[in-house]
Amino acid sequence: MTTPLHSNTKHAIVIGSGFGGLALAIRLQASGIRTTVLEKRDKPGGRAYVYNDQGFTFDAGPTVITDPSALEELFALAGRKVSDYVELLPVTPFYRLCWEDGTQFDYVNDQAALDAQIEALNPADVEGYRRFLAYSQAVFEEGYLKLGSVPFLHFRNMLSAGPKLLKLKAWRSVYDQVATFIENEKLRQALSFHTLLVGGNPFATSSIYTLIHALERKWGVWFARGGTHALVQGMVRLFEDLGGTLQLNTPVERILVDNCRTTGVVTAQGNHIPADLVASNADVIHTYRNLLGHHVHGTIESSRLKRKRHSMSLFVVHFGLRQRPANLQHHTVCFGARYRGLIDELFAGPGLPEDFSLYLHSPCVTDPSLAPEGCSTHYVLSPVPHLGNAPVDWSVEGPKYRDRILAYLEKYYIPNLQRDLVTSRIFTPADFQTELNAYHGSAFSLEPTLTQSAWFRPHNRDAAIPNLYLVGAGTHPGAGVPGVIGSAKATATVILQDLKHP
Ligand SMILES: Cc1cc2nc3c(=O)[nH]c(=O)nc-3n(C[C@H](O)[C@H](O)[C@H](O)COP(=O)(O)OP(=O)(O)OC[C@H]3O[C@@H](n4cnc5c(N)ncnc54)[C@H](O)[C@@H]3O)c2cc1C
Repeated sequence: MTTPLHSNTKHAIVIGSGFGGLALAIRLQASGIRTTVLEKRDKPGGRAYVYNDQGFTFDAGPTVITDPSALEELFALAGRKVSDYVELLPVTPFYRLCWEDGTQFDYVNDQAALDAQIEALNPADVEGYRRFLAYSQAVFEEGYLKLGSVPFLHFRNMLSAGPKLLKLKAWRSVYDQVATFIENEKLRQALSFHTLLVGGNPFATSSIYTLIHALERKWGVWFARGGTHALVQGMVRLFEDLGGTLQLNTPVERILVDNCRTTGVVTAQGNHIPADLVASNADVIHTYRNLLGHHVHGTIESSRLKRKRHSMSLFVVHFGLRQRPANLQHHTVCFGARYRGLIDELFAGPGLPEDFSLYLHSPCVTDPSLAPEGCSTHYVLSPVPHLGNAPVDWSVEGPKYRDRILAYLEKYYIPNLQRDLVTSRIFTPADFQTELNAYHGSAFSLEPTLTQSAWFRPHNRDAAIPNLYLVGAGTHPGAGVPGVIGSAKATATVILQDLKHP
């Protein structure tokens, strides 16, 4: 348990209750800082929202839970275990990868089973895979274990990491680096698509992100019983057990600044809530443009950030079926006919591509309680360009796009899908923009390229307002549940140092 600082009179406000906001709030509250989380929506979790409909439970966002040790570390700060609040269930295979020609690859944590499947696709790649795994393990040691939750506040932090990044060929893209080890195109896709799960283009994102592969092999893939939102609820209960306060339906409208220090926030209801420090888990551009737009620093910073590259968006269809499809795994990646060409269009536009590659989530495979008896819960996710790259009118295109995706799933993966459809709902880039205040409706904030990572990413502490902090996908290290939990650790480290040495 963290030793509380002698700062009982300090009050922190965290704007937003995404995984990053909640993890930071737990760390601050566990350190003796009175912490209030202000959340715009009616439920906590941010992208990890939940919908309940006719007995179906639909997780809105993250479903692949990796690095449970980061969660354990968080709960241990309060002298608790994750299992005191929520049960994590192992998922195997981690993913089933499928192609339109019928090829399947079960990505499992069993070397012999992996070798057999790789051999069937291309015998030479068995040895190549071993070398790739060793590379990704080395990157994981440097990039995740050593630097994943270190705040990059100064350029000297970047300089000291530089030689190691050079040695690991961090200037190369994930795909290019995979291709130096692996010949078979399907295996190259299987080992490079992961960056899409954190908003990165495999052809542009630094090869540092190959660490995701080693991370999954080391700690496995998990799912919370009751759905990812059960994990969110567990974190909220932990925070409240520690004495913290979560206020839902409370959009923050403005961060108050007096003499280059924040003094608190004003909510949309007009309440002025004073604080000694404020941390924003909201979208970084929303934070500077809207919440700090009244201050010259907010205007300058938001103009600078708007010029950066932003991750693609997602189109999500949640659907409940009165059948339990027989041959599905929990996580299925459905590769379409094009890989590089499609990804180029997803990250650059100018329109909605005709074809798609999909991720299909079928959580009843692990936890049947998420749907009524004999039924099943699913979501299918299609990466799409953000609104700045493809200004699609989603109120018109959304229903048509949903129908095309469901017809495709029926053809390749779920016979009689449309006959057995009980309920469906869509979440489009326009919803990311309005519901989550995401700039251009980006699903993952700034794209994780090398020149937008670490010191180049918005810092965990603001440069001009020293008691204003950032946490979540837009700051170091970046998107994904392990990423934003790491960002909470980095931000909390800076806050606690600042309070000790004001
Ligand atoms: C569909 C989808 C699937 C994903 N799948 C995975 C996965 O399987 N595994 C994985 O690791 N990652 C996954 N990710 C990525 C991961 O979910 C995110 O990177 C992560 O959850 C973002 O957390 P965050 O802390 O940045 O906050 P967010 O989740 O972005 O939450 C920010 C919160 O701030 C609130 N807010 C915004 N403005 C205000 C305001 N003015 N006042 C008050 N509150 C405000 C919002 O309402 C929101 O609740 C997925 C993302 C999506 C969208």
